[in-house]
Amino acid sequence: MIFAGVDIGSRAAKAVVMEDDRIIATAIIDTGPESVKTAHAVMEKALSGSGLALRDITYTVATGYGRVLVPFASENVSEISCHARGINWYFPSVRTVLDMGGQDCKAINCDGSGRVTNFVMNDKCAGGTGRFLEMIADVLNVPLAESGELALKSRNAVPFNTVCAVFAKSDAIAYLRKGVAKADILAGLYEAIAQRSLNLLKRVSIEKDFAITGGISKNRGMVRKLAEKVGLEPLLCDDPQLCGALGAALFARERYEGGRPSAMKVQYGYADGTGEYFITIDHALCNGCGECVAGCPAGVFAVQTDGTSAPRAVVKEELRRRLAMVCPGAIACSAKHGKNCLSACKVGAIRHSW
Ligand code: SF4
Ligand code: SF4
Repeated sequence: MIFAGVDIGSRAAKAVVMEDDRIIATAIIDTGPESVKTAHAVMEKALSGSGLALRDITYTVATGYGRVLVPFASENVSEISCHARGINWYFPSVRTVLDMGGQDCKAINCDGSGRVTNFVMNDKCAGGTGRFLEMIADVLNVPLAESGELALKSRNAVPFNTVCAVFAKSDAIAYLRKGVAKADILAGLYEAIAQRSLNLLKRVSIEKDFAITGGISKNRGMVRKLAEKVGLEPLLCDDPQLCGALGAALFARERYEGGRPSAMKVQYGYADGTGEYFITIDHALCNGCGECVAGCPAGVFAVQTDGTSAPRAVVKEELRRRLAMVCPGAIACSAKHGKNCLSACKVGAIRHSW
């Protein structure tokens, strides 16, 4: 049977197609302005040349920033869970993962089955993310793909006291004007990012074996600095940028084989250092009655149709990344209003994580 994972990240979209336990096709493309089109494009690219079409895929799980906008996915799973699961497929001994993505960075602990046991996330600041490395490569006028190799040539890395995108950029320009070699500027920045990543890792626990996933792990200069700072040689899989999509494909197989092929659970929300704030709506159960819309004092829900399917409840897009600011949580809401979305939904389609 064929299973697929699609990871719509902030900078890149990835797809992994598996036949049983074997990867048979992959693709990586830039994320476009429309997640739905990006999802179709990355899957089309993965399938091209494989002799397969979308209809041949038994079950698809979506992950990443744009995971709720993958129309052909039956379910979505957080990228934290998917990265842990993906790396576990390659290295079951890994217990600590640093996922360095386009716009955030996560430190994750997992067990021998790839289940997340702890994590912290830095998504408040661009420093140490793929976007940040792109910006610095731009400032130095070095192609991003060559910046890691160039940093390895440094003999005298210059200090950066901050990885705040704004200050680091002006520090880099100042060094450039003073005639400091680009290799030394890059190495100094990578050193600062590595220190910051180490601080993030210390908030979970750094255990052997340690792996890095995400697009930045393709940058050899960055990986070298991280290895020095952490004091462990990181394990890197074939293409660490695909790890989230691989994890999603593995979840697809597990969910299908677990007997939930008709489930269409869409998860909205986020996790940060204070907790997990996810609302899950099972679209296989939702009949679009709108009781949740009427019953939510915070105006979290809407009933929509994408034109091809029956109307169903969604969490409003503009509230997805700030749910905890508008919703006090299911228990607190019920205590205050005598009801909440869970009691409003007679078919039990809604779940809250807080
Ligand atoms: S718990 Fe209350 S405020 Fe939160 S989404 Fe449900 S109804 Fe809205
Ligand atoms: S109350 Fe339940 S069934 Fe009705 S629209 Fe909301 S989620 Fe769907």
